[in-house]
Amino acid sequence: MHPYEDPNLSTQARLDDLLPRMTLEEKIGQLCMMAGNVDEEWLVEKHVGTMINVYEENSLRLQKKLGDGHRLRIPVLFSLDCPHGHGLLSSKGATVFPGPLALSCSWSEDHLETVGRVTATEMTYTGIHWSFAPVVDVVRDLRWGRVEETFGEDGFLVGEMAAAMIRGFQGKNLSDPESVMSCLKHFIGYSQTIGGRDSTETQLSQRQLRRDFLPPYERAFAEGCPTVMAGYQAIDGTPCSLNHWLLRHLLRDELGFEGFVVSDFNNIEKAVKLQKVCEDMETACVESFKAGNDMPMHTREFPEAVLKAVRNGTLSEEAIDISCARILKMKFALGLFDEKRYPDLAKRATHFGSEEHMEKALQVARDSTVLLKNENQTLPLSPKTRRVAVVGPNANDIFAQLGCWTYSWMKDSKPELRLENPIPAEVTILEAIRERGGDAVTVDHVQGCNIEDDELNEIEAAVKAAEDAEVVIAVVGDNRFFAGEQADRATLDLPGRQQELLKALKATGKPLVLVLVCAKPPSLHWASQHADAILCAWTPGTRGGVAIAEQLFGDHSPSGKLSLTFAESASQLPVNYNQTRGWHGPDHYIDLPPETKDPLYPFGFGLSYTQFSYTHPEVVNPTLDTDETLKVRVDITNTGNVACREIVQLYIEDKVASVVRPPYELKAYRQVFLQPGEKATVELEVPYKSLAILNSEMQWVVEPGEFIAHVGSSSRSSDLTPLPVEVR
Ligand code: BGC
Repeated sequence: MHPYEDPNLSTQARLDDLLPRMTLEEKIGQLCMMAGNVDEEWLVEKHVGTMINVYEENSLRLQKKLGDGHRLRIPVLFSLDCPHGHGLLSSKGATVFPGPLALSCSWSEDHLETVGRVTATEMTYTGIHWSFAPVVDVVRDLRWGRVEETFGEDGFLVGEMAAAMIRGFQGKNLSDPESVMSCLKHFIGYSQTIGGRDSTETQLSQRQLRRDFLPPYERAFAEGCPTVMAGYQAIDGTPCSLNHWLLRHLLRDELGFEGFVVSDFNNIEKAVKLQKVCEDMETACVESFKAGNDMPMHTREFPEAVLKAVRNGTLSEEAIDISCARILKMKFALGLFDEKRYPDLAKRATHFGSEEHMEKALQVARDSTVLLKNENQTLPLSPKTRRVAVVGPNANDIFAQLGCWTYSWMKDSKPELRLENPIPAEVTILEAIRERGGDAVTVDHVQGCNIEDDELNEIEAAVKAAEDAEVVIAVVGDNRFFAGEQADRATLDLPGRQQELLKALKATGKPLVLVLVCAKPPSLHWASQHADAILCAWTPGTRGGVAIAEQLFGDHSPSGKLSLTFAESASQLPVNYNQTRGWHGPDHYIDLPPETKDPLYPFGFGLSYTQFSYTHPEVVNPTLDTDETLKVRVDITNTGNVACREIVQLYIEDKVASVVRPPYELKAYRQVFLQPGEKATVELEVPYKSLAILNSEMQWVVEPGEFIAHVGSSSRSSDLTPLPVEVR
């Protein structure tokens, strides 16, 4: 046994032994990641060290061939996108949790950790060691196609959600055979590309970058996330994967990041073909590596280009060693040299989508929905209800329900897949309503229209079903053709004939309940005025149908709160609550109605089937000295008839600061579950340094003076109680 193979030695000692044994070509091979569609002899010849999109039998075979077959038996690292479950294998029964946006509306770190843990275990059974998640992009433009993949518009909440998911992915120890490595993406400001146009240029001032986009990265680094994916987009003229300032200065020198950087999928080629900042692939490969991109994702030209550059002196071998060591270090940390961590196909058969995992998916789905409107207590449905009409294109569409990075998300996936290979746990909203309603409730279903075209017109039949029913449940929204990569939108309108369908249903005079299955907030101007109830389910996952049916019938109350703001229309964007002040005039566009001054549904907002009263709010220490923690207390009482969770929020306002800043920003939140009549005192804490602002010298400083702590149930000022604080 060589010293590097000895698990009792330190990682550094093992690296020090291994690196000098490796040829230059072998070291370069460790920097390469390829997808499975490349000829295997080439992979062997180039000593490729990381694979993407290869799993189960194929990862087993390739690990044996490339890893065990390696002269030095260096194991292969297998990677995949698994942001809310091992979704790309959902056709084989993997558990799909609600999508990231839905998860963030739970505001529950426990849930996020659970999602990470369950996902990690299912991934490892198929031989995957590295998940391209969590996404820490902070939403700004709702037209952008990838809103669903994020945790919303507030950097603090995004950071907390990401940290919890990382804890789940990485477990107690990365070397645990059921842990996977996490990856932060898309570094940085990917959600701020101009006009929401995916992967173009991000306009980001130093202030925006550091104030709005960097904090979730810092939070996630503190949680031990060892990898970062550089975004497709350019910043200030330079594509992220070639951006020396970003990858070397900011990430390494300033933030002290010690892990490794991977590019986005064949991003190097973009620099040549789309962004046109490099003449040819050889230059782009070398330039990206020089800029600090350790590992290109799926770039065939890389090994030869870099080898040539070292040979002709453009790159030093030492630079290769440094990047190679960063990657090998993680292979040691994952225990790949010691345990091999082959796929466990037996466990995959018995544990994939196990009852326990699916139960967790259900629990998380219950807490991820947001009740936006509930006039006259339309929901929950009365126990006397005997006939409901369930209409709308997403009522019976498991694909829309599963959301991003699932087998159905791929635009060319076929609905027949589900019929050919039924997964018992996968239940649509329609199926779950039928099941829950049982013999007592007659359910009439008419799809009514399509989302992706105007061809289907069953509006008359839907109206007929509505007329016969006591209540109409319209499940509308968007689907995979309207979200994801290469799917940015100009409007936020409900696509197809959905709006027409809703108006026709409303005209029947029957109570109209909207259930939204959607990847981003649609503009709901009409619905907000005319629907009787609106329950937003986002993409609720495998068990989402059951969670929705339970809530419609009142078995559980919705309790999620929005992690982003709903716009009235796309022309109003951006609408995030934490914008800086100073808009000259009436705070709304003059050709939109005055009520658009306030967002349709604000950040932090969400109703439930009960009511909570907030009493005796107080600041425990209204005079705060340096390094003290601000403590705010409030009594919460469940004054309604239903047991429910409440998410208590604390926003901080700095009355006068040396730079312009948002009116107030979220700094703490707590959840509390209360039975009817029950009361609890909730205490929220804000560390002194969280009161800091980024001053004009780009330093984080607390400026002593008057602050206001706003405590309440949402970011809307009428839902908050202001409490003065003097900061010294
Ligand atoms: C996406 C990334 C993803 C990668 C690998 C890219 O197109 O932008 O988010 O991790 O593909 O699948």
